[in-house]
Amino acid sequence: MSDSAILAEVAARRQELIGLTQDLIRIPTLNPPGRNYREICDYLATRLIAQGFAVELLRAHGTPGDSDAFPRWNLVARYETGPGSCVHFNSHHDVVEVGHGWTRDPFGAAVEGDRIYGRGACDMKGGLAASVIAAEAFLAARPAFRGAIEISATADEETGGYGGVAWLAERGYFSPARVQHVLIPEPLHKDRICLGHRGVWWAEVETHGRIAHGSMPFLGDSAIRHMGAVLEEIEDRLYPLLATKRTAMPVVPEGARQSTLNINSIHGGEPEPEPGSTALPAPCVADRCRIVLDRRYLIEESLPEVKAEIAAVLERVKARRPGFSYDIRTLFEVQPTMASPEAPIVTSTAAAIEKVLHRHAEHVVSPGTYDQKHIDRIGKLSNCIAYGPGLLHLAHQPDEWIGIQDMEDSAKVMALVLADLLP
Ligand SMILES: [Zn+2]
Repeated sequence: MSDSAILAEVAARRQELIGLTQDLIRIPTLNPPGRNYREICDYLATRLIAQGFAVELLRAHGTPGDSDAFPRWNLVARYETGPGSCVHFNSHHDVVEVGHGWTRDPFGAAVEGDRIYGRGACDMKGGLAASVIAAEAFLAARPAFRGAIEISATADEETGGYGGVAWLAERGYFSPARVQHVLIPEPLHKDRICLGHRGVWWAEVETHGRIAHGSMPFLGDSAIRHMGAVLEEIEDRLYPLLATKRTAMPVVPEGARQSTLNINSIHGGEPEPEPGSTALPAPCVADRCRIVLDRRYLIEESLPEVKAEIAAVLERVKARRPGFSYDIRTLFEVQPTMASPEAPIVTSTAAAIEKVLHRHAEHVVSPGTYDQKHIDRIGKLSNCIAYGPGLLHLAHQPDEWIGIQDMEDSAKVMALVLADLLP
């Protein structure tokens, strides 16, 4: 059967695609704390079992945030006809908090023109729905295909994926023996293929001082002034160095094509007053000051090198400031990852984008991370991309929406990827 028959099967499911997306948005899977994970997995299980999938519901017991009140449920569904490759569509089912500024019901899934509104519409229930419709349309058009299709809906991507993809990968669900191709329908846009992401290192740096009366600061030692020296060193020496480190990764936006460092927070001295407090501050020399660093690094850099740069900053300050001492603590780290542009999932998706949209696929790399990190590092599967409908800048925003035509086009691309990889 030709590609046009598959495309027609997707097009015929346009109303179903809308309805499925609405149903998913209406299950408020807020994370934190991790609400309604079981409900969304049950909903998908009912649908996929009716399509002939074998479905597993898996609770990631003991992972961060898992409790009887907020259990970390994941769904893995598999449709297998016999020997051959397996193509896996992985979506996270959790959504971030609603936040302020909405002009629509965040869980109402209102359709207005070509858009469906709701928290998670673009990140990433629209992509999840598109992948389900793609698989169903493909099965209708090519019931005699060889191989396997898997669809997963996983927990906690928004908080690191430890109760979701990481947990499944540790249990072999993304091992190359089981799965050969992975597509993650995150909202990178329907004509772009996201090959991977930069690395991350979060660290907390603390400088130490000695408390004293603020009228006689010479009797103490200010941790804030020590931190000031650290920040100056970062400003004068580290930022210029980071600006010289450029990557060959096609990161978008362009500004993220170099090493970056954000100073997430700074805290020193007495705690912030309670809101509404009219009390005056007490005069004290700060005995400690802390900053949290968010360093994003490139595939050309190594994590030890990234850590050594910050250590060098601190050691230079220490060498010239009497009494300077510090602690440094890693909070979080993620390796950069990037699929080869020649990987089969990449070339297959690019060819499908050409057929559906009549334009060349753009290769991009994400400035931030997503679940691909676990599939690559734990699952040892590098034939993995993010590809899906939606505009990334709408993610986590008020009045988040997904375009219906974009979802349909992406579903067509995903269905053709199945046809190509599962002959
Ligand atoms: Zn996402």
